[in-house]
Parts: sequence; structure tokens; C-alpha cells
Amino acid sequence: MSPSGSAQSSALRVTILGSGTSMGVPSLGCHCRVCRSSDPHDNRTRPSVLVSRAGSCVVIDTTPDFRFQALRQGLDRLDAVVFTHAHADHILGFDDIRPFNLKQKSALPIYASPETFAILRRTFAYVFAEGPAASTIPEVVPHVIDGPFELLGVEWRPIPAEHGAMEVLGYRVGGLAYLTDFSRVPPQSKPLLAGVDELVIDALRDEPHPMHQTVAQALALVLELKPRRAWFTHIAHDLPHQETNERLAREGFANVRLAYDGLSFEVSA
Ligand SMILES: [Zn+2]
Ligand SMILES: [Zn+2]
Ligand SMILES: [Zn+2]
Repeated sequence: MSPSGSAQSSALRVTILGSGTSMGVPSLGCHCRVCRSSDPHDNRTRPSVLVSRAGSCVVIDTTPDFRFQALRQGLDRLDAVVFTHAHADHILGFDDIRPFNLKQKSALPIYASPETFAILRRTFAYVFAEGPAASTIPEVVPHVIDGPFELLGVEWRPIPAEHGAMEVLGYRVGGLAYLTDFSRVPPQSKPLLAGVDELVIDALRDEPHPMHQTVAQALALVLELKPRRAWFTHIAHDLPHQETNERLAREGFANVRLAYDGLSFEVSA
């Protein structure tokens, strides 16, 4: 162990900006006990993570709640956006990167797979259009992901997974693996998740879903991958925070918890 704070200063800080499923929790018009819960951990915005290091900040996905999440987090700068896939709950806050363009006087690097870029270009055609814009639009430098890349001075390794019939990318960054929106991790991606310190994975609910893991499937993956800690995300209103954590502890998963908005921890770079 190094005696000074050098390891500390080079660590990555991970903050869960949103831990909810596509509709968020509470979901509109729902009066179930989780949607009515007074426990702030049961308020879940759409799924996103902030990874920061030495004052630089990268967000994974720009959800419809991105502006709110950035305000809540006091996000003062943004150095890149990395996308997992192009479902609405992961991209629809994209337009709200504009204040960072203006403040930082620069275009923002964005990283995505070719499939995700195809949908981003269609959904946000005005961002990628040629010629001058009549008003402020996001200014971006697109980086098509075709292998590992570097951000925050560390390597980001894409982890392909199956989200129903769609491909989604998770990321391994230092001691973190973030993998949301998947129903299956193909065998060739499992080595990329081996030996991870903090594993953040999709666990929608108990009832099976064609595009997301259940709690039981997520727990089976935890047993297989053996992370130091695991956090479940993309959580629906079926899972009350405290009750589910007590259940996980009772079932012997002392190192597994539901993530929640605002959860923050450090991992090695
Ligand atoms: Zn999603
Ligand atoms: Zn509900
Ligand atoms: Zn999705």
C-alpha cells in the first residue's frame, strides 16, 4: 500500500445518477406501495452513472432525467458521454448537454457503438445536420466504439451483452463494471467481468422479462462472477428498497444491494 494519498487521488469516483427502470419510480399514475413510499431510496430516476476523476466527469447515457440528475449532483463540467444503447430512457436527455458546450467553449466527445449512433443520428437529426443551426444545438465529436478507448486517463473496455435481440454495451473501467439493460451475458464477455471490484448490473424485478434480468438471474451472475460487491440497477416499482435489501441479506448475499440514486463510491483506476 502506498503511504500517501496518491492512490486516493488517482481513484475513480462512481455515482449512480439514476437507478430506475425506463418509466422511473414512482411511475406515472401508479399508487402501489413503492410508488407511494416515503423512503427516498424508492425514488428512482432513469438509469445513468457518473464516473469522475481529478475534476473530470464522464456520464454513461443521457436519460430523460439528465438535466435534473446533473442539477441534483451539482455537475459543473462534463468531459464526455458514453452510451450503452439507444433506447429512449438512455438517450432522451442528450439535448441538455448544451450548457456544457457553452460553458466549456468546446464540443463534447461522445462514444457509442455504430448501431447506437445510427439511432442517435435519426432521433437527433438536427444535431448531426450539415450547415449552420438557427439556435443552440449540442456540439459533439462522435467516437464510434470498435474496441477499448481511453477517458479520464484510464481504459474503458466495452462489454457486449444481449438486451433481448438488441446488443448493448456495458463498460469495465478500473475496478468498476457497469452493465445495464441486458437479458444475457454471452460467454465471450464474461472474462471482461472477471475479478471486478464493484459490479453494477441490471435486475429489473422478480417477474421474467424478455429484455432484462430478474433478481434471481442477477444473483446467479453474481455467484458466477464473484465481484467484491454487486449493485442492482434499472429497478422497477416491484422491488421496495429496504425490504429487498433485507431479503438479499437473508438469502446470504451480504455483498449485494439495490443501487439507489446518489449512491457513490470509489474504485481503483
Ligand atoms: Zn433502459
Ligand atoms: Zn408503482
Ligand atoms: Zn434498453
